[in-house]
Amino acid sequence: MLFGRKKRKPITIPDKKVKEWKYTTCNYCSTGCAIEIGLSEEKRIVTTRGHAGADVNRGKLCIKGLLEHELFESPGRGTEPLIRDKHYDKFEKTTWDNALDTTAQKIKEIQDKYGKDAFAVVSTGQLLTEEFYTLGKLTRGCIGTNNYDGNTTLCMASAVSGYKRSFGSDGPPGCYDDFEHTHCFMAFGSNLPEQHPVIYWRLKEALEKRKFPLIVVDPRVTMLAQFADIHLPITPGTDCVLINSMMHVIINEGLQDQAYIDAHTEGFEAVKALVQDYAPEVAQHQCGIDEDRIRSVARLYAKAPSAMSIWTMGINQSTHGSDGVANINNLNLITGNIGKPGGTSLSITGQCNAMGTREWSSCSGLPGYRALENPEHRQEIADFWGIDPEFFPKKRGLAQTDIFPAIETGDVKGMWIVATNPMTSMANTPRIRKMLESLDFLVVQDVYADVETNQYSHVYFPASVWAEKEGCHTNTERRVSLISNVLPPYANSKPDFWIFNQMAKRFENGQKIKFPETPEGAFEEMKQLSKGSNPYGNERTLDISGMSYEKIVKARGIQWPFSEEMAEEQDKASGSLKGSPRLYTDGKFQTPSGKANLICVDFYDNNEKPCKDYPFWLNSGRVVEHFHTRTRTGKIGNCNKFSPTPYMEMNPDAAKELGIEHQTYVRLTSRRGDAVVLVQLTQRVSRDMVFIPFHFHDCVNRLTVGLLDPYSRQPAFKQCSARIEKVDQEEAARLNAERRNY
Ligand code: SF4
Repeated sequence: MLFGRKKRKPITIPDKKVKEWKYTTCNYCSTGCAIEIGLSEEKRIVTTRGHAGADVNRGKLCIKGLLEHELFESPGRGTEPLIRDKHYDKFEKTTWDNALDTTAQKIKEIQDKYGKDAFAVVSTGQLLTEEFYTLGKLTRGCIGTNNYDGNTTLCMASAVSGYKRSFGSDGPPGCYDDFEHTHCFMAFGSNLPEQHPVIYWRLKEALEKRKFPLIVVDPRVTMLAQFADIHLPITPGTDCVLINSMMHVIINEGLQDQAYIDAHTEGFEAVKALVQDYAPEVAQHQCGIDEDRIRSVARLYAKAPSAMSIWTMGINQSTHGSDGVANINNLNLITGNIGKPGGTSLSITGQCNAMGTREWSSCSGLPGYRALENPEHRQEIADFWGIDPEFFPKKRGLAQTDIFPAIETGDVKGMWIVATNPMTSMANTPRIRKMLESLDFLVVQDVYADVETNQYSHVYFPASVWAEKEGCHTNTERRVSLISNVLPPYANSKPDFWIFNQMAKRFENGQKIKFPETPEGAFEEMKQLSKGSNPYGNERTLDISGMSYEKIVKARGIQWPFSEEMAEEQDKASGSLKGSPRLYTDGKFQTPSGKANLICVDFYDNNEKPCKDYPFWLNSGRVVEHFHTRTRTGKIGNCNKFSPTPYMEMNPDAAKELGIEHQTYVRLTSRRGDAVVLVQLTQRVSRDMVFIPFHFHDCVNRLTVGLLDPYSRQPAFKQCSARIEKVDQEEAARLNAERRNY
């Protein structure tokens, strides 16, 4: 009997009265789950479910995907374009023509007065790939600013940089199917159950079929660490020391794959010499992992018939994130674990289409992994678009994390922010607020009018969301999937693709360049640009020429490379069009010699670290209910209900010393600012560390320093120091509520 009831209430599944299911893809994280949207007889969207026939998620979804259909009519959505003279004036509604004309005119005024690069464009990892391609065409080909970047600099830039340095090109070489083949799995700074729940489910499924060791490197006892066979609670920011020490053991005990090293890599002797300084008995004092544990993990990894590493922000968001990625690649190259089933270096991407922006947005170069620094690439794209190659800059401009400081120096006077929310996502937000306030002109394009950054804009473009649009995503394993258009845009919002096309018409080069009317038309252009070879004569890895919207839907996603020839071959052989699960299977890399680079990664210690005045490491990360700055999930009832407020994990022993109790508010202070946060006592964090989810406005990023990686310009969100003070509980509760509108 349950709670005194005499009869159990039968479990019923409410009938949502779905008349039709429509295929699409989840628009949150990079897992790339296929979703079916349920429409009622009246064509209203009533529910979502995982697509059982899709290889990625096989019917599963996490809480965000299950509730994603609630986005369409969620509170705070932008309904009309808005305009105002000063950012502190009240917004007035306006027409699309006026909003676009005003913006184009302001861009031209700023560029005429201060130079082309005085107007910056800051984009995202959450648009559709055709939208990225079109925004790149507009920014590089028409507006002509070189200060163009995306918020992927906050999450994936180190992975991109590390891949390019090691393999000569971006592009994760592995896939989820590698879980089914690996004999040793090592996760660096990656908490899959909360970050990428369905990838975690794929890993668990593989582990249920066949046991293999799960090693987790993380300073915090994350959910993944709780399930690990071996947890290495590393000192923050010392991954390079651990990996160098593992390589020291592997090389000195002769466990490396010398045949693979000789045939497919360059630089082994230099790495071998460098790692001699990282004997486990020395390294243990820097990385906090004891020498025996370093030796046993190194042997386990090297002796496994195949071993793989994954990583996420624990590596990327660091002052040596790019080095960390290059060093993970080193580990896999010297053990022969690249391009074979179960042996890979797989960066788990953050945003749903972080890969799409890397491939096609032209943020750091030109479309299709082309480089601004390469004259042939500039000529090729200029010819394809029909403009003068001299219009392109000859090297990459500023990254997002350098664009904002350029406002302070007066080099950037105006900005267009597309689908990103720096007022919550950037490090040291008090400084970002001042920068945004001082812009001559700011236009914000977002699904939500109440996104925090919009407080500082002069023009607001209301954008359509998810399946109100059509186009592709590329997921973590290079799989291109389609977002089908299921609903018309909400109110007077417009697809981002339409907004970019309309803006292009207002620039001189916009009259010369063809801007296809439909996303599918843009996809056809991208296919053309993906054919052929790289400057060293190797086939282009990013080849999507064999794909079409129809084929993508039929296969529920296709992994690139997928050339026209491959499409024909796979069709003839099995009728199934899956593409290429792995890169570099032939050991040929995208470098001049065709060999991968082994890179010497020496450790340098430049983090802000705990000290007498600020005695705690401040760490941050994701919770499963929310996505990034809660712009969308903060509006979804159940996501918000399960995770309504920021909290701080604190070790009970440390709390006892300070007289702090569970579920009381404290004030956390760093050298940048302060935040009020609710304490959750847990052994997940060590005595000298606290952890706060990064999603909440006016919280952890008021404190972070965000020192930058020298290669990727990605900020070290996860390494800074803070102190904790008691506060008046009523005032703290008031402040906590006041700082968040939803
Ligand atoms: S795991 Fe990621 S892609 Fe899959 S449903 Fe959840 S948020 Fe969407």
